[in-house]
Amino acid sequence: MSATTQTTRVSTEPPASSKSASTIPTPTRAFHLDAAGITVIVVHAVAALSLALYTPATKTWILTYAIWQLATLGITVGYHRLWSHRAYKATLPLRALLAVMGAMAFQGSIRWWTQRHRLHHR
Ligand SMILES: [Zn+2]
Repeated sequence: MSATTQTTRVSTEPPASSKSASTIPTPTRAFHLDAAGITVIVVHAVAALSLALYTPATKTWILTYAIWQLATLGITVGYHRLWSHRAYKATLPLRALLAVMGAMAFQGSIRWWTQRHRLHHR
């Protein structure tokens, strides 16, 4: 009884922000779902469903782990330390390799990632 009363009361009251919604600053979204994000979700959903029908070979698990680690290195060594913080200088072949490895992580372009990360440190 009291739970129903409380639910009714809450649902009939206008939200606190509805009176002056235009004057309240919108908080920065911490998460943005773009085409790359949707792709990652769909690919992982299909992969998870396929596990119900198919048992991957050991080589597939090893390759999956290797790609995951390469992508992680692309983000941490490339996108983060090299391009965001300019912590070191790299030759063109290394920059190209790190760019490809970072792209494998589906975390957006180097420019987008770097801008977001520099804002994060402010
Ligand atoms: Zn950083």
